[in-house]
Amino acid sequence: MDDATDATDATDATDATHRGSTGHGHTSNDDTHDTHNTHDTATGAAGAAGATGAAGATGAIGERTSELTRRLLAPNPGPMTLDGTNSYIIRAPNAETCVVVDPGPLHEGHLKLLASGAPVELVLITHHHSDHTEASARFAAITGAQVRALDPAFCVDGAPLVDNEEIVAGGTRIRVLATPGHSSDSVCFVLPDDGPTGSVLTGDTILGRGTTIIAHPDGNLAEYLHSLELLAGIGDAVALPAHGDSLENLMAACERYRAHRLARLAEVRDVVATLGPDATVEKVTDLVYADTDPAIRFAAEASMRAQLEYLESEAAGSAPA
Ligand SMILES: [Zn+2]
Repeated sequence: MDDATDATDATDATDATHRGSTGHGHTSNDDTHDTHNTHDTATGAAGAAGATGAAGATGAIGERTSELTRRLLAPNPGPMTLDGTNSYIIRAPNAETCVVVDPGPLHEGHLKLLASGAPVELVLITHHHSDHTEASARFAAITGAQVRALDPAFCVDGAPLVDNEEIVAGGTRIRVLATPGHSSDSVCFVLPDDGPTGSVLTGDTILGRGTTIIAHPDGNLAEYLHSLELLAGIGDAVALPAHGDSLENLMAACERYRAHRLARLAEVRDVVATLGPDATVEKVTDLVYADTDPAIRFAAEASMRAQLEYLESEAAGSAPA
């Protein structure tokens, strides 16, 4: 896999635009040509790792995000990755080993730090996009751990994940929940024993801020809306996203995402009706996602294709309510 910017990892560029001045520092003017560039941001992971990332005597790496998890931010900030990819470490208090979720981009310093705590028993992957999996083979070589993903092509010496499978590792239970939509192979990892409410590692299905892209044609909006329902059904769990900060209430986040998606769909439906036969992807994108940074225009178009596909299925009577 090459290191070109991964279109499918774009956060919804257009929503960043629409948030305008209320956006939380996710500017559309960040470096876009190289998401692995570590030199462009003083606030990126390199700084964070320097402050909080080093393994101490306790083997604590990164930042605590819940009773059973810590996260280590990878140094790949950009418009597609927000601050960078969050690699998570799952480990019960007295467990001798840990589980790493999404080793992230191929960055030796990040991987060494990630491997410097408790021995890594298992590596899990939320989905195949390169900012989550580029380092898989290298990290497997460093740690000797198996890498497991839903897509067999992204496993290293491990079996593919199965929907609803329960894994016991790192001293705790981890349930696999298939949540296609952002990508066809997206999964979330449910930690029912993590604190009073449990937690869910949401990958790119729910982000810490903004909204996620539906990476058409691999991503699918009808599947995505169904996945939001599944996640909302888990209830008041803490959401631990692969980009951005943790969210206190998964159910509330799902409701917000769903409302946003439906509002956007209504907007697209209106524009398509107005344009009539002239409603090309480009033209609808121009109108719905005006003022989008050209660097992330491709992301806006991918999201638009997913929405147009959804509306076509709806018109044909096959889209789920
Ligand atoms: Zn992604």
